[in-house]
Amino acid sequence: MEEQLRKSDTLNVVGELAAGIAHEIRNPMTALKGFIQLLQGSIGSDREDYAMYFHVITSELKRIESIITEFLVLAKPQAIQYQQSDICKIMQDTIDLLSVQATMHNIQIEARYDDHLPEIYCEPKQLKQVFINMLKNAIEVMPKGGTITVTVEKSDEEHIRIAIRDQGCGIPQDKLKKLGEPFYTTKERGTGLGLMVSYKIIEEHKGKIDVESEVGVGTTFYITIPIALQSEDE
Ligand code: ADP
Ligand code: MG
Repeated sequence: MEEQLRKSDTLNVVGELAAGIAHEIRNPMTALKGFIQLLQGSIGSDREDYAMYFHVITSELKRIESIITEFLVLAKPQAIQYQQSDICKIMQDTIDLLSVQATMHNIQIEARYDDHLPEIYCEPKQLKQVFINMLKNAIEVMPKGGTITVTVEKSDEEHIRIAIRDQGCGIPQDKLKKLGEPFYTTKERGTGLGLMVSYKIIEEHKGKIDVESEVGVGTTFYITIPIALQSEDE
């Protein structure tokens, strides 16, 4: 419980900072991108080493952009609209969105939805963001391909539980508590923000995320969210 509280304080501070910084960085980034394209157009094509420099510049700019984009999810100003939604549809849309990427990596995503699930009160765009982050992580830890299994079911009268199971590298026991910490990543080109954003969103839905993992076997992320969002006073 204490761990949970501490994490959420950090998240709030980071969230507020994120809004300001992300917007400030976006504008100069747009200018940079435009001028680099102009430069590339006028001097790029005849020198091979230049082509390589432009390639590096462009891919590093993309990296900055993905960090900014993940930060902006934390920053509230986008219209947040809680509404009654079909969680299975949100999940299936996400799976469809990532199907090309999965196929390219020899990965099947198998989804099983309980019949007659009630609609839940949630922010569909934000939940989709969580599913994207988790499915992407699952794809990224399965370089040799395999199966990702998604289930959506009622865990009790008041909650829906989503499980996302992969056959990836797994997470060592002592690293589990680092999940969701800002900038915690084990990937060379990772941002370490995807899970932080996901924890934040699920926390706002008064839900929770649990992880089960076995090194060399795979990982399952469980997201439990209330069907009807409880009121603020707890
Ligand atoms: P990123 O994907 O940019 O590294 P995330 O916040 O999405 O950032 O994930 C943080 C870290 O958590 C990852 O770098 C990885 O070490 C670990 N992780 C997350 N999902 C999985 C998974 N499905 N299997 C193994 N490790 C995972
Ligand atoms: Mg990630």
